[in-house]
Amino acid sequence: RLEVQSLSRTFGGRPVVDGVSLTIAAGQVTCLLGPSGCGKSTTLRMIAGVDTPDAGHIRIDGAEVCGPGLSLPPEARGVGLMFQDFALFPHLTVAQNVAFGLRGDREAKSRRVGELLDRVNLSGYGAKHPHELSGGEQQRVALARALAPRPRIMLMDEPFSGLDNRLRDGIRDTTLEVLKEEGAAVLLVTHEPDEALRMADEIALMRGGRIVQCGSPYNIYNSPADKAAAAFFSDVN
Ligand code: ATP
Ligand code: MG
Repeated sequence: RLEVQSLSRTFGGRPVVDGVSLTIAAGQVTCLLGPSGCGKSTTLRMIAGVDTPDAGHIRIDGAEVCGPGLSLPPEARGVGLMFQDFALFPHLTVAQNVAFGLRGDREAKSRRVGELLDRVNLSGYGAKHPHELSGGEQQRVALARALAPRPRIMLMDEPFSGLDNRLRDGIRDTTLEVLKEEGAAVLLVTHEPDEALRMADEIALMRGGRIVQCGSPYNIYNSPADKAAAAFFSDVN
């Protein structure tokens, strides 16, 4: 469970994230949706622990990981990360990539790696190297790698934007299936309304550093809070 409360960040005196609050339950996918520059990645980076807010609190499964005078490093937060250009290690095999963040005995690790490669439909690919895989296959390996240590929170910043259109829908579906099976609380950042409508249990609509509306995809699509929200969805059919 992820709880973010009144998170704020200024750059050079300009508020970029301005009092953002949201809660994501385990097993739930929330999409942070908004136009370029509205503060989505900055929000995600603070939750990941690679940037520090000026104010606000972040709790993971009830424990404060960030607040006044406190900021746990990323590796102590139990978060999994996936970005558009979060590359695989080229010199490691697929299996070694997935096992990278895992501890424990060799047998347990290889069981977990096998389970995840199975889930992303890449069983039999363990001995290959990243350059032998398509972009979509690499992205599924990156997903398996991020989920391998069983993060309680999964943070994804435009993870599909580097993929070509024909691949994207299939990978979105596979990703969603695997995320649901693993049961992490997921924050997925996107500027594409159709992606949010397809994947989210809840959409948090962001503009100018603030969350302007929050609700189910059905609700947001059918009852946009204002003209700008409506316009944002108007090119989706
Ligand atoms: P996009 O959809 O294009 O990825 P975004 O919503 O993720 O946009 P952010 O990357 O969070 O937007 O950036 C929000 C604003 O903060 C932008 O105007 C950006 O230029 C500014 N910004 C982000 N990081 C920094 C930084 N380290 N120093 C100064 N300004 C920054
Ligand atoms: Mg961004």
